[in-house]
Amino acid sequence: MLLFKKTDALSAFLKKNKQSGKTVGFVPTMGALHAGHVSLIEKSKAENDVTVCSIFVNPVQFNDPEDLKRYPRPIERDIELLLSASCDVLFFPPVEEIYPNGTENLIHFDLGEIEKILDGKFRPNHFQGVANVMKLLLNTVQPDRLYMGQKDFQQVMVVRKMMKQENTNCRLIPCEIIREPDGLAMSSRNVRLNESERKNSSVISQTLFFIQNNFDKFSVTAIKTEAEKMLSKIPDSKLDYLEIANAENLSAVTDWKDAKHIVALVAIKVGKVRLIDNVVIR
Ligand code: AMP
Repeated sequence: MLLFKKTDALSAFLKKNKQSGKTVGFVPTMGALHAGHVSLIEKSKAENDVTVCSIFVNPVQFNDPEDLKRYPRPIERDIELLLSASCDVLFFPPVEEIYPNGTENLIHFDLGEIEKILDGKFRPNHFQGVANVMKLLLNTVQPDRLYMGQKDFQQVMVVRKMMKQENTNCRLIPCEIIREPDGLAMSSRNVRLNESERKNSSVISQTLFFIQNNFDKFSVTAIKTEAEKMLSKIPDSKLDYLEIANAENLSAVTDWKDAKHIVALVAIKVGKVRLIDNVVIR
């Protein structure tokens, strides 16, 4: 595996590969890698000649300074994991490399409603930060294919919108959520849960699967009430949102007939750790 810390060096290396007809797959991450990340790398490896994984804890997408400070950064373990996954290239830039003019002068993207609802509502400016870093990373890597997890359902929609606005010539490939044996969606933040929080967090996916398996027996309002009851049993938790939404634009549905494709999304704080998850219902 090759390691690059500089944008120019990585661009030059990838340009040479593309000139010789090789395709490039890209997996952007914030590190603290787990089997969810590895699944994206494996997909990219199966579909491209060169797979690039980036590890960059993007400061401008954190609305909570404590969350940024506590974000896990086990870089040596990450490198070992990337080596065992046979990743071709790791891009591990310092902040100055991505934001040479500082993190104050960001581009403002016109993301519309999608950045104001759900996670956008609870994490002001989060998606502007995501759009900014993704534009810079995509400019550097210029991949043929970009691999992102459906775990961050809203993030996939935001990045797709930004790419369309920027006429980015690359295919975005959403990948399925990888879960722990008890159903908890894998996340870099899971390591911050203590033993009982970790155990209780399995209720999140149980609730989503309950919605998925029983939606046709309830009205939207009734199933939301049932689901909220289930989530409220998690000790020391605070629900940010549980929403049943149109999977095309994430607007809330009040009747199952409101949309063809429907997704249930949840964001909840367990102790100090904010967790998100979702399931496609239909
Ligand atoms: P992160 O490092 O959390 O920013 O995630 C980097 C990429 O991995 C994003 O596209 C995530 O959606 C994806 N990802 C994170 N967790 C999972 C998971 N459990 N299953 C599949 N993809 C994931």
